[in-house]
Amino acid sequence: MTQLRDQYARFGISEQAAQFGEEILSSLTERFRKIDETAEYNQLKVIHAMQACKVSEACLLGTTGYGYNDLGRDTLEQVYAEVFHTEDALVRPQITCGTHALALALMSNLRPGDELLSPVGKPYDTLEEVIGIRPSKGSLKEYGISYRQVDLLPDGTFDYDGIRAAIKDNTKLVTIQRSKGYQTRPTLSVARIGELIRFIKGIRPDLICMVDNCYGEFVETTEPAEVGADLVVGSLIKNPGGGLAPIGGYIAGRKECVENAAYRLTSPGLGKEVGASLGVLSAFYQGLFLAPVVTAGALKGAIFAANLYEKLGFPVIPDGQESRHDIIQAVTFGSPEGVIAFCQGIQAAAPVDSFVTPEPWDMPGYDAQVIMAAGAFVSGSSIELSADGPIKPPYAVYFQGGLTFPHAKLGILKTLQNLMDRGLITSDFHRI
Ligand SMILES: *Cc1c(COP(=O)(O)O)cnc(C)c1O
Repeated sequence: MTQLRDQYARFGISEQAAQFGEEILSSLTERFRKIDETAEYNQLKVIHAMQACKVSEACLLGTTGYGYNDLGRDTLEQVYAEVFHTEDALVRPQITCGTHALALALMSNLRPGDELLSPVGKPYDTLEEVIGIRPSKGSLKEYGISYRQVDLLPDGTFDYDGIRAAIKDNTKLVTIQRSKGYQTRPTLSVARIGELIRFIKGIRPDLICMVDNCYGEFVETTEPAEVGADLVVGSLIKNPGGGLAPIGGYIAGRKECVENAAYRLTSPGLGKEVGASLGVLSAFYQGLFLAPVVTAGALKGAIFAANLYEKLGFPVIPDGQESRHDIIQAVTFGSPEGVIAFCQGIQAAAPVDSFVTPEPWDMPGYDAQVIMAAGAFVSGSSIELSADGPIKPPYAVYFQGGLTFPHAKLGILKTLQNLMDRGLITSDFHRI
């Protein structure tokens, strides 16, 4: 495909880099076929849900003001409940991001004196302030809600004895993070989440089991409520927004738990009845419709990057062969130059802000400089091709997203070319 090579050449990607990429890709045919199969299954699941809930043209319109009788909003919430196999769902532009959705689910289902338990180690960074692990105004801790944590065992398995001992009389809710986020533990498969929930419910059937589903949606054919989760929570500017949702979060789960969240989001007495959808419903519906295939593209990008960088001799998590349960890929470069070359390559492939050169900077809340690459249609969206890395040992970069696989591929080839141009790999493709 000479013409295709010409296209890559226009982005400064050499014949050798493109050829190396093709060799890696040719070994991934079978894995990509399985990902397409999962996407096909999930695509049908979403279409079936939309049909079963009788999504109509009128649903795509929005309301203003109080938003009473918002047909599109109420129907979309039924669609989410159907897709995630839950009794009910809250899907709103008034939920500003994933952290907000998780905070809302926690604050509305816990009361003073209750205890929250994480049996899978430290939760995502932003939740530390929600919970009060790091002191913060408005945290659960400030409201008298305590927190206990049981770390995974060194081999990544659940510490069942520790978990049993950590369940106290006042334990009310258990939070289980599906994705590893930016830690090095393995991401949990839905099946493993199911084992954990079965164990917990075996001790106390009344405990609310919540899953932080961020980055995990549509990676598998099942979702956490199918293995017993009472609440499933995530962000619409990640997988389920399909790249189109400009804002939003969702909370799907048991009716009573979702109702609690609605009364907290709006007001006691009002709950789900208010909350105008403004103009976002069409993007929410269409984004959900696209999400299975968009997630598949992001997964393929992550697997391509893992295999390419593994071949070059860099440590990658997950490795090239491992099964995947989220869309995050880590590559360890061992030097600041590698992290910078990678992030600048991702930026240079972006449809938006490609001419900007990201540099490491002192970001609030971090103890080292951080470099971030994002040229997204939706600001900060991490279902779009994006990468970031703290400038400190082991000099790892975290990379995710890509609304289409060809875009993810271009970005990864651009990172490879940057490393070649800067003398960080040899001419026969080995790390220096
Ligand atoms: C992204 C993420 C969050 C927070 O979502 P934001 O939209 O960034 O606030 C929480 N948990 C996990 C596992 C995430 O990946």
